[in-house]
Amino acid sequence: MKQKPILQQTQSKNTKKRILTGDRPTGKLHLGHYVGSHANRVKLQDEYECYFIIADLHTLTTKPEKTADLKNNIHQMTLDYLSVGIDPQKSTIYIQSQIPEVTQLAVIFGNLTTIPRLQRMPTLKDVMRDADIQIPSYGLLGYPVLQAADILMVKGDLVPVGKDQESHIEVTREIARDFNRTYEVVFPEPKPLIGEIPTLPGTDGAVKMSKSAGNVINLSDSAKDVEKKVMSMYTDPKRIHSTDPGTVEGNPVFTYLDAFGAEADSSQIARYKDQYTKGQVGDIEVKKYLARVLNNFLDPIREKRAEYEKKPELVEKILKKGTEKARIEAQKTLAEVKKAMKIDYF
Ligand code: ATP
Ligand code: MG
Repeated sequence: MKQKPILQQTQSKNTKKRILTGDRPTGKLHLGHYVGSHANRVKLQDEYECYFIIADLHTLTTKPEKTADLKNNIHQMTLDYLSVGIDPQKSTIYIQSQIPEVTQLAVIFGNLTTIPRLQRMPTLKDVMRDADIQIPSYGLLGYPVLQAADILMVKGDLVPVGKDQESHIEVTREIARDFNRTYEVVFPEPKPLIGEIPTLPGTDGAVKMSKSAGNVINLSDSAKDVEKKVMSMYTDPKRIHSTDPGTVEGNPVFTYLDAFGAEADSSQIARYKDQYTKGQVGDIEVKKYLARVLNNFLDPIREKRAEYEKKPELVEKILKKGTEKARIEAQKTLAEVKKAMKIDYF
């Protein structure tokens, strides 16, 4: 892994492998998105040719009526992308719905996937429960098929995602294999890249920090909000007094410390863990420390965000340029696909 970047930097830009990943513009990005996917995106920008999709069509799968918010959500999400360090000079940020080729590819791929295969997706059950959906629409069932079209449209090799998305990438791999076998070899078989913390828990102790569960710390939260959220976080429910021995394992306060503070001061975190297990430190002290750690992590992100907030036209230009670039790739791939299928009539 360490040797590779040097080798690839000496090669021309076109020989770089590609990354495709993205998010649905349903709200602001949170710490879960960062550890699950964005940390890897920022880290791999030089090594890979990166495409980051803002998947607005995918929001229709759960909230088809909520289209009026999309424009603002897309702007906010782009600010989030830029503020965590996605560099528009290196990486392409684009809007899914402005690339019509992707929907044609999704139609083609829909014929290479069975309904039971899609019904078995573990994410389907979770999304239906969270969004209170009794019967899935054709679009919701086809979510992984459209995602396969996004990934394969730019011939993505690597997909940095949270653990919950692993099963979707498996469907993409199956579709790529099936297409290559049925017609001609056009697609790579993309691999998922799961973040160091595969699933960041919520502030309420739920398994996953998630926009729809309202248990999030947003990348754009103010220092005060972060402190408030941290101070009311779920910890070890069995611990009543600070002198009671506490549990570190599965305690989100310590998971967050490991995710965001270990690099800066792992010995202090180790000390707190030890003291906590022995009943020698209170929840309040550890939480105050965590709030500081998170605010230190978020401060440079806030600064960058504030800069881009002053330049809405620049943000729009970045999106427009990125979308134009991605569309060219989409057109190239679709032409190859049609040729392989012998439906390139004219
Ligand atoms: P929603 O509740 O609207 O589904 P979400 O918070 O689950 O939102 P998504 O837009 O579904 O976010 O996820 C975007 C990306 O971020 C995916 O790669 C997903 O795996 C990753 N991700 C989201 N939440 C977490 C988390 N808590 N831990 C790790 N990765 C996450
Ligand atoms: Mg989700």
